[in-house]
Order: sequence, then C-alpha cells, then structure tokens
Amino acid sequence: MSIILMGCFIMKKVGIPRGLSYYEFYAAWKVFFEELGAEVVLSDRTSKKIIDDGVKACVDEACFAVKIFFGHVINLMGRADCIFIPRLTSISRNEYVCPKFGGLPDMVRGSIGGLPFIIDAEINMRKDKNGGLKAAYEAGSFFTTDRALIRSAYNKAVKSGYGVLPAEAAAPAGVLKNEGRLKIAVIGHGYNLYDSCLNMNLLNKIRAENAEVITLDMLDRDSIIKRSGTIPKKMFWNFGSKAVGAAFCLLDRQDIDGILYVMAFGCGVDSFVCDYVERLIRREKDLPFAVITLDEHSGEAGLNTRIEAFIDMIRWRKKNDINLPSHGQYLHHGESSAG
Ligand code: SF4
Repeated sequence: MSIILMGCFIMKKVGIPRGLSYYEFYAAWKVFFEELGAEVVLSDRTSKKIIDDGVKACVDEACFAVKIFFGHVINLMGRADCIFIPRLTSISRNEYVCPKFGGLPDMVRGSIGGLPFIIDAEINMRKDKNGGLKAAYEAGSFFTTDRALIRSAYNKAVKSGYGVLPAEAAAPAGVLKNEGRLKIAVIGHGYNLYDSCLNMNLLNKIRAENAEVITLDMLDRDSIIKRSGTIPKKMFWNFGSKAVGAAFCLLDRQDIDGILYVMAFGCGVDSFVCDYVERLIRREKDLPFAVITLDEHSGEAGLNTRIEAFIDMIRWRKKNDINLPSHGQYLHHGESSAG
C-alpha cells in the first residue's frame, strides 16, 4: 500500500491496463517503474467480463479498443495505489497519436467512479525530443523525489524497453507446417492484432491455415521510417506513417503472399490510413489484399469464413491462374467477396 513520506504520498503499486499503448510501451514502462522501486500490477488478459465491463462503462461512440481499455481499468481497481494512463499526444516529431489517447485519462475519470489516483503525465514529442523525459519526471515524482534516479530509470527504460515485441505476438509452438506455407502480412494497431480476445484469435486462425503471420512490429523499424518518408506529403498520424512505410517494405519483398488490414469499426485514423494503404498496394503490385473490421458485435463464424476464403483464394490463385481478379477485395461486416 502507499506510504506517506515527506508530506506527500509515495505510491508503491502502479497498475497498468493491458490495452492500447500497453502493446507498444509496456516493456519500457515496467523497467521505468521498477527502477523507481514500484511494483507493477498488470490487468488480467482480456476476457468476456473485461469486455462487458468496458462496453458498459464507456460511451457507445468509442472504438472497441477504447471500450476494452475501460474494462482493464476496472479490472485493476482495488489492486493498485494508482493507475498509469499517460496522455499520449505525440510520440514522434511532427506527428500525432489518435486524439482518443490524449483524452483517455479524462474519459476514464468521467465514466468510472471510485477510481484510485490516475497518473496522467502528458507525452508530447511533436516538437520536443525531451517530451518523454518531461513525462518521466512528472510520472516519477509520485514514486520518488530523486530526479537523478528518475532520469536514470528513464534512460534504462528507453534502452531496454522500446521495440520489444509483446509476448502476445509470438506464434504458439508447433502450429506451422513447412510445406506450402504462405506468408500473410497483417497491418493494424498492436492492440487490435495482439489481443486475441478482441480479435477472436485472428493471428492464430491465420496460422492454422498454414500461413506465417508478419506484423508491422516484425519489420525493420529503420526501413519503415525511411520508406514512409518517400510519400509526397508527411502523414499527420504516427500510425499512418508506420502503416504506409510498412506497406512499402512489404511491397519491396518478393515473399509476401497477401496483406490483411485489421481495423476497428468507427476508427477515424484507420478509415483514412487503410484506404491510403489499399490504393498504394493496388497501384504498386498485384497482391491480394483484404480488410477485416472488428467491433463488439463481430461474430466468430463470419471471421473464420473470411479468413478461410482469403487464404483459399490465394492458394487457388497461385496454383491455377494468375489472371483471376482475386486481389483488392474488401471484406466488411461479415461479407465475403472471395470466390
Ligand atoms: S486509432 Fe482508432 S482504434 Fe485506435 S484508439 Fe483511435 S479510434 Fe480507436
């Protein structure tokens, strides 16, 4: 529990919701808080209860990923002295993160009663490369008054935590056969791709069709940044740059058999970025492409059908005919256009 030191609360247990930016930054945040002597409490893996709690607590208009995040905050209540919900404005120069991230601490406070203290340090690196360190000083001040220690914890976190692929991205052992294996690239936000409850085990469904899954996080970061700089106008969104740079990297390769774009229903960022990526792929290469849109009403049987149809279509096309108009299909809300 928290203790009182020098007239202010010093937090001992910090809760981190297993949603949204968890999938990109958890490894770094864990190092940071543990270096400050705090115990990190992670919410449980997404479950039906977490989804139901989040959907009930959150406004209807929010995307599925934000609703699930609310469920994770509820899951942490009573288990930690405080919950870390950073106000992510920008994580890269001259680019923004989705505005939902900036308003997240306020949305949570406004919708869920009886919360523990929320650490909502703003991370804004749009014009200031020290934006991360400033946020670290703010967040760290709840654990220690030693600024040198906070700086050292921040440096260790940056060194060891960033770029670590979340454990959820790994393929279960023994799932792939070698012969006839396809390589399917999947573009989407980490929280949509790696939360197997949110996406009804999407990545493993693809793997079960004897296809290797390649996500953005498995591509070389420097190549993504370099290739994203080749479009005439810089993207406004950080994720847009990443997705477009990754699409270029995937098109440069000769071993990718198809590309799936996974997005949340009602996502403003993805509705633009997905369209841009689709046009890019259609223009540059004759590569099968499909979109899968997810929300709390998505049915598993429909998802299975769409994945099977996409994979079957690619195998059929590879085997029988290169002239079939089987690429560039748009799969949405249970429709299947393969075949
Ligand atoms: S980018 Fe889209 S999916 Fe992600 S939080 Fe924003 S609205 Fe939701």
